[in-house]
Amino acid sequence: MIKVYIPNNFIPERTYAIRTLLTHYCGIPVDIVVGHNSSQYELKWEDKSIVIADHFFGKIPEGQSYIHESHIPKTIVEASSIGFQNIPILFGKEQLEITRDHIVCHVDIFAGVFFMLTRWEESLGKRKDLHDRFPAAEALVVKNEGYILRPIVDEYSFLLRTWLLAIGYSLPEISSTFKTVLSCDVDIPFYWRSKPLWKNLGGRLLKHWNILNTLKDYKSFRAVKTSADKDPYDTYDYLMDLAEKGESKMQFNFIGGGKTKYEGYYKIDEPHIKALIDHIISRGHHIGVHPSYDSYKDELLIRQEKEAVASSAGISVVRSRQHYLRFAVPETWQKLSASGIIEDSTLGYAAEPGFRCGTCKPFPVFDIHQREQLPLTERPLLIMDVSFRMYKKLSIKESIKLAEQIKEQVKKHNGELVVLWHNSSLSEVDGWTDWNAVLEKVVH
Ligand SMILES: [Zn+2]
Repeated sequence: MIKVYIPNNFIPERTYAIRTLLTHYCGIPVDIVVGHNSSQYELKWEDKSIVIADHFFGKIPEGQSYIHESHIPKTIVEASSIGFQNIPILFGKEQLEITRDHIVCHVDIFAGVFFMLTRWEESLGKRKDLHDRFPAAEALVVKNEGYILRPIVDEYSFLLRTWLLAIGYSLPEISSTFKTVLSCDVDIPFYWRSKPLWKNLGGRLLKHWNILNTLKDYKSFRAVKTSADKDPYDTYDYLMDLAEKGESKMQFNFIGGGKTKYEGYYKIDEPHIKALIDHIISRGHHIGVHPSYDSYKDELLIRQEKEAVASSAGISVVRSRQHYLRFAVPETWQKLSASGIIEDSTLGYAAEPGFRCGTCKPFPVFDIHQREQLPLTERPLLIMDVSFRMYKKLSIKESIKLAEQIKEQVKKHNGELVVLWHNSSLSEVDGWTDWNAVLEKVVH
């Protein structure tokens, strides 16, 4: 047990940062003591101590909120002096004093952890993208090139463990090991059922003006109809096989409602969707809810859609990812939690693969407005198919390189490589031919 002495302000925020970094990430039980006079965090046990200078909460004037543009760091610099292991510095300065039993660090790692995990910078966002999302380009770790590819929180926890060991704290074994977590959001379950035949064929003819291809399409349709061939989007068994090879489970997230043009390709209680869900469950894989386009600020919608998926699947549903990754900090977390969701996996930027929350590990969620921890876990999304091909317009080769870079970091920190691959992103009808190479490289 380590006693942590903290100043007498921003107590819920400081408590969350300390418990998350020390207990959740490093496995160390803590006893937090509020109200000492100095403006720093003091970690004490026996006659030893680690002091972390307060370069954030202590500097916010009395009665003011820290959630303000002016409190976001201007730049990130990488520490280069010995003892810091090249950590990125968000708050504080590069200064470290190490003696036999004591360490004093002037990088405020607690403020850094709080910034990355709560995503409070996103709650300020005046600028939004086409889908009312916080634009990746506005994030501190994207503005400072390269830092979206650094799991900053995991780096801090590794550093803290190293220091604790160095001055003789006997650390518990880290139990987490590297794993891949594969998931699929079922936006359009079957190509030939998603729209009437004439719409599909006509649409593709208008787009490509190629009558030969249209005839080929029609032949494919006939083959699927007569069960000679699989529907091009019916890649569910391939995905489950892939997950099983890596001794893991797929999670398929289904849409349980929605009225916008961004959904409506199926109804959750249609017999062929129920049959698909039954098949997934019979192979031992997981079902989650994919709350619809308009749900990200609407508790009732999330709850109804969760219940619709649960009732169609005949099992309870407690895991989710928002459609189009639409997310408002902290509202969406609040609504998810209030609807009975216990785990969300939305937080990755569509436009930038990597570590939006600075971590490759699931973490407890903190609601910056209610100033409390929620009974909800965020399992951050690191890799998504369309980020590579559509948003970043990378080739298959470039995508493999970037995906492997992310995977290396996750391996280094024994984290989870959370991957989203749509069932529709494996078929030649939409030009995804050979993109399975990226997915397979990520998984194996
Ligand atoms: Zn979706």
